[in-house]
Amino acid sequence: MGTLTGKTALVTGGSRGIGRAIALRLAAEGADVALCARQVEAAQAVVGELQALGVRALARQVDVALTTPAGALIEAVLAEWGKLDILVNNAGITRDNLLLRMSEEEWDAVLDTNLKGAFNCCKAAARAMVKARSGRIINISSVVGLMGNAGQANYAASKAGLIGFTKSLARELASRSITANVVAPGLVPETGMTGGLGEKAMEQLRSQIPLGRPGLPEDVAHAVAFLASEQAGYITGQVLCVDGGMVM
Ligand code: NAP
Repeated sequence: MGTLTGKTALVTGGSRGIGRAIALRLAAEGADVALCARQVEAAQAVVGELQALGVRALARQVDVALTTPAGALIEAVLAEWGKLDILVNNAGITRDNLLLRMSEEEWDAVLDTNLKGAFNCCKAAARAMVKARSGRIINISSVVGLMGNAGQANYAASKAGLIGFTKSLARELASRSITANVVAPGLVPETGMTGGLGEKAMEQLRSQIPLGRPGLPEDVAHAVAFLASEQAGYITGQVLCVDGGMVM
C-alpha cells in the first residue's frame, strides 16, 4: 500500500513536464489522479501511464483560466470519484518580455492562467474539502516569485501572488483540517517551459545552483507527494523551495 492509497487527486497541467511527473508520483503512492490541459491528447497519453500503475485516472480538456470550465472540472472529478482529497495547481505559462515592451495581453495571459487559474480551481475544490473536513492544496509557484527576474515581471507577479494567495487559504481553511502549501521549483530544464532558454542563459543559471545541477521534474514531484501525505498534516502556509539551494 502506498501513502496515498484511497485518495483522489487533481493535477492541473498534468499532460507534460512537472505536472506529468507529479501525477505519476501521486499514482505511484496509490492515488487516483485526474488531469487537465488545453490540449487533451497529451493528457490522455498520461492517463494510460497512470492506469498502468494500477490506479484510476481521467483527463479533461480545460483551460483553468476560465471560471466555469474550471468549476465543471472539479464537479466532474467529484461526480466520478465522490471526493477530491488533493488539488495540485501546476498549470502555468510564460510570456516573457521587458516591462517597457510587455503588452497588456502578455500580462493578462500569464496572470489569468497562473494566478486566476489557481483561484478558480481552489474555490471550487475548497467547497468539497470544507464539507469533507480534510484536504490538501499544493500550488506550484517558482523561485522567480521570490527573487524576481528581468523579463518576467508578469510571471514573477503571478508566482509571488500565488504565495500570498496560498497563505491566505491556509489561514481560512485550517479549522477544517485543510492544508495549503506552495512548492517553488528552481530551474527544471527538462520541460516545455524552459525550452526557449539558450545554452548561455542555461549555463548562467546553472552557476547559481549550490547543488551544482538543474532540477528534475521528479525532484518537484517528491516534494508534492510529501505535502499531499498524511505525514504532512501539521504543515500549512509554507513555501518549500525545490531549487538545489538557489534561494536560501
Ligand atoms: P510545461 O512543460 O510547459 O507544462 C505546462 C502544463 O500546463 C502543460 O500540461 C500545459 O498543457 C498546461 N497548461 C498551461 N496552460 C494551461 C491552462 N490555461 N489550462 C490548463 N492547463 C494549462 O511547464 P513546466 O515546466 O512543467 O511547468 C509546470 C509548473 O511549474 C508551472 O506552473 C511553472 O510555472 C512551474 N515552474 C517551472 C519551472 C521550470 O524550470 N520548468 C520552474 C519553476 C516553476 P496545455 O499547453 O495543453 O494546456
